[in-house]
Amino acid sequence: MRSVDDHQRVVADLIRSRPAVMGSLTEALGLVLADDVVAQLSLPVFDNSAMDGYAVRAEDTSGATPEHPVLLPVTEDIPAGRTDQLTLQPGTAHRIMTGAPIPAGATAIVPVEDTDGGLVSVAIRQTAPPGKHIRPAGEDVVLGSTVLRAGQLVTPAMLGLAAALGVAELNVIPRQRVLVISTGSELVSPGTPLRPGQIYESNSIMLAGAVRDAGATVVATATAGDDVTQFSAILDRYAGTENHVDLIITSGGVSAGAYEVVKDAFGRHGSQDQNHGVEFVKVAMQPGMPQGIGRVAGTPIVTLPGNPVSALVSFEVFIRPALRMAMHLPDPERPRRPAVLTETLTSPRGKRQFRRALLHPAEDAVGGVDTVTSYGPPASHHLRWLASANGLLDIPEDVVEVSAGTQLQVWDLR
Ligand code: AMP
Ligand code: MG
Repeated sequence: MRSVDDHQRVVADLIRSRPAVMGSLTEALGLVLADDVVAQLSLPVFDNSAMDGYAVRAEDTSGATPEHPVLLPVTEDIPAGRTDQLTLQPGTAHRIMTGAPIPAGATAIVPVEDTDGGLVSVAIRQTAPPGKHIRPAGEDVVLGSTVLRAGQLVTPAMLGLAAALGVAELNVIPRQRVLVISTGSELVSPGTPLRPGQIYESNSIMLAGAVRDAGATVVATATAGDDVTQFSAILDRYAGTENHVDLIITSGGVSAGAYEVVKDAFGRHGSQDQNHGVEFVKVAMQPGMPQGIGRVAGTPIVTLPGNPVSALVSFEVFIRPALRMAMHLPDPERPRRPAVLTETLTSPRGKRQFRRALLHPAEDAVGGVDTVTSYGPPASHHLRWLASANGLLDIPEDVVEVSAGTQLQVWDLR
């Protein structure tokens, strides 16, 4: 049997980064920058008012108090967005709004609160020192400075900065494009009536959600019955370099029984063809032992077992970190938290066990330590527990029993 660590490496090697592309700001959110961004503008772009009020020459307000206001004629009205170049004559004031350009000659803004708000002439009740309430050009960003760096994860604030600088597109490592295929003749879509022996298909929606949650894109989801022709037709439609799918994920049809469509489609004993074939392996883990990996017409494929818990745990362990690494995203792995087990558990010999778990934060942040409880049975069809678990308890291969009070690593799914 192959170790979990070894299979993680094999999957990570299979999934390759796409070349960086220029994308709209909207598309760039949550992706990693491939280039530095150098400011082609200063911010503020021009000297502008920080307050609604009056642009003045500072010396014209000297001595102004509430008791002895200075009276100045108001000769212009400057709302934000006024584009003509104005000059303030000595001994006059321009009414001005926040964000509007400072007229030439003005050296201070008097907030409207310190005046009578006059439109023809204004009574100024406070002395304004030079520079007061003026936001000078380049105070925030200087033209030519590097404001964003290659390797940074694009956040909403970074999009705001890019847009403010007039940048409409960013060069980013694009999302991996993933096709999800469920297999099984017993599966029907939610929303249709069930006949005896049928079940609702739940892996494709779950895995597609996990793909998106990992930061990648779902090109399509599809379901095939246990029929090699039908399954191969779906592969043919999407595989191949011209079809722009970076990864195909299948679930089901890889166990030891009959009617294992994925195994049947690729040949039970795998293939020697580097470009077309799947190697089926047993990985020393529970759940998720039967795994497969390879290429279809050059397109990477990872075949997961069909039991829903096995499928999602396998995705967490192998695919999520590989997808995030390929997109250069931070923290490809889930954070691992040490936590003290509150019960005694047994675990199969020779298999690394991932049990659904509830992580309880320490009561006391200073000296306390997180505790963890296993959540639901270890069997791989118990979706209900998986749905409410917030962690995966990682029990090493060689361990057969862990007693209450032992410290274990927990994968934090929160
Ligand atoms: P398999 O790996 O195909 O042998 O499937 C193992 C178990 O998982 C069987 O009980 C299947 O019915 C179930 N299963 C497989 N695929 C799905 C799916 N897409 N949605 C729900 N259950 C599934
Ligand atoms: Mg099946």
